[in-house]
Amino acid sequence: MKRLVFIALTVFLSIVSLAYADEGINETPPPPTVGTPAPIYTATPVPRPTPMSILEQDGTTVELYFQSIAQGQVGLIHVNGENIAGGRARFINNIVDFYPVPGDGYYGILSVNMEQTPRKYDISVFAWYDDGTRVTINTQVEVVLGGFIRQDITMAPDRLYLVDAEIERDELARLESVFSPVTPEHMWDANGFQLPILGSELTSPFGAFRNFNGALQTRHTGWDIRTILGMPIMASAGGKVAFAGLLDIRGNIVIIDHGYGVFTAYCHLSQIHVTRGQTIVKGQIIGVTGDTGRSSGPHFHWEMAVNGNFVDTIQFTQSWIP
Ligand SMILES: [Zn+2]
Repeated sequence: MKRLVFIALTVFLSIVSLAYADEGINETPPPPTVGTPAPIYTATPVPRPTPMSILEQDGTTVELYFQSIAQGQVGLIHVNGENIAGGRARFINNIVDFYPVPGDGYYGILSVNMEQTPRKYDISVFAWYDDGTRVTINTQVEVVLGGFIRQDITMAPDRLYLVDAEIERDELARLESVFSPVTPEHMWDANGFQLPILGSELTSPFGAFRNFNGALQTRHTGWDIRTILGMPIMASAGGKVAFAGLLDIRGNIVIIDHGYGVFTAYCHLSQIHVTRGQTIVKGQIIGVTGDTGRSSGPHFHWEMAVNGNFVDTIQFTQSWIP
């Protein structure tokens, strides 16, 4: 009798554990339909803020939508005047091409490298007009500390080979070349940029100083978002696929060029649903989450670059970017 009870209990426990394992598998949703915009993708657009400072000279107005810019963040600048035909700025080793907003002059997105020394920097804003007039307005922009955290990360032995300064350098160089062209086309809409994943919980922050296995010091170039395997990833805004493929550290990655030096990148994917050169609409499913590359478990790494600098994706989505 005791033996029978024991067998019955063993069989029962096996069924329970099988059911449990099944549930784990069922957590992965069916693969999304390729190329269809997600219907439930709605978010509240960021309202237009009031500018923090306004400069005027010879009929040209420059508005700054920030007081200072933190390391690894962006600041929006607006130039306008009657019959204005273009705008541009020179700021920390960069020439920033401004984009037109119909009936509202030109806007530029200033970006600051996460390693930029905090201090005041000169900025020159150039405006030109239909009649050939040119106006230059000079001012200063203060860069402040990003307030980044420090993290110790331990990679499992099977991916320890990816904790390597040379692999890191090569990959950054490759990304730099993808991020460098400035496409003079405004491909996002007036509601700005959205989170690429629904119901997302942020885990590891952008800009963190990271120490891998006590052997490699790096910076975190994006935000990590907690997820299970197989969640659909949606384009944060409209654009064109600049890169879709496998990289050592970022794993399967899709990079979208949104125009005017703005790129978003979606990393560690298990599947990629788009190809290079493809036009993408906001909310379109471009791949599904995974655990590829230098990853210590399923998660989604979301990063972006503006004028060649990695910037904080969350600050960007919370900013008004017309
Ligand atoms: Zn990450």
